[in-house]
Amino acid sequence: MPFSSKQLTIIGVGLIGGSLARALRRTGNCDEIVGCGRDEAHLQKAVELGVIDRYEMDIAAAVSGADVVILAVPLRAMVSVLKQMASGLSSDVVITDVGSAKGCVVEEARAVLGDRFRDFVPGHPIAGTEKSGVEASFAELFDNRGVILTPLEETDPAKCARISAMWKAAGANVTEMAVLHHDEVLAATSHLPHLLAYSLVNTLASLEESKEIFAFAAGGFRDFSRIASSDPMMWRDICMENREAVLEVLQQFNNDLKQLEDAIRDDDGEAVVNVFTRAKETRDRFCG
Ligand code: NAP
Repeated sequence: MPFSSKQLTIIGVGLIGGSLARALRRTGNCDEIVGCGRDEAHLQKAVELGVIDRYEMDIAAAVSGADVVILAVPLRAMVSVLKQMASGLSSDVVITDVGSAKGCVVEEARAVLGDRFRDFVPGHPIAGTEKSGVEASFAELFDNRGVILTPLEETDPAKCARISAMWKAAGANVTEMAVLHHDEVLAATSHLPHLLAYSLVNTLASLEESKEIFAFAAGGFRDFSRIASSDPMMWRDICMENREAVLEVLQQFNNDLKQLEDAIRDDDGEAVVNVFTRAKETRDRFCG
């Protein structure tokens, strides 16, 4: 089913919301894209860049008349946005979000939307950069990247199909997953690596020779630490809102790191090489 929309409203025209608008513009499937956010200067910039057609500062006014509403705000802003938009929603609307954790958003949407929860399709594009804001957005962000939808029993299948078609029009490949499974998988593949990057950079910065360390840091360190330039507030929200899954995988990581530390302390070269070989084989297999 090809995607089209008469009015698509994006609450939060930043990196993800702005990139989705740009991606959909390439194919001309939306008659009008309306933006909404807290800072008028950001929305004016989005109009100047051609990302949105117009904006509203009031959330209920922004969703009024929309047949598709995208929530692209930080996780901890979702509940207040859901509450503010409820009175403006039209009867044929489909609502989706792009939040990096799904359990928290689903719980909030179910509580706030009541009967309209069937119109809500939880989603998460597995694409991003360490940059924020509409200026960092670009149309190709989702090309050949994954998007995970986590529909619930109550979700209207026709509305889920519509959001799936929207992401395909934006260039993405769409998969479906259970909410809990999504949060466990993403805790391991995305949230843990961000925690490690932030922590590693801080460890190095606190060493006495930190200036020298950063001056001589080679490509490997740059690659590994790039994601530590991501927005701290966004990542606070993700870690706190996906707390249980993050703590579980962090515990597992701490255990594995301790084993490696013990092997080095015990001069057990065989154990060290086993750890490195297993990791290399796994990465080569999955990442090519
Ligand atoms: P971003 O670039 O900072 O954009 C967030 C946007 O939300 C901004 O335009 C901001 O505009 C607006 N906003 C913030 N609080 C708001 C509120 N209370 N009411 C209305 N608008 C509000 O962040 P992003 O990277 O696009 O992330 C947005 C969402 O995508 C998050 O839920 C994140 O978990 C998810 N996500 C991010 C990535 C990534 O790699 N960055 C990847 C996948 C999913 P104003 O400041 O003008 O209000």
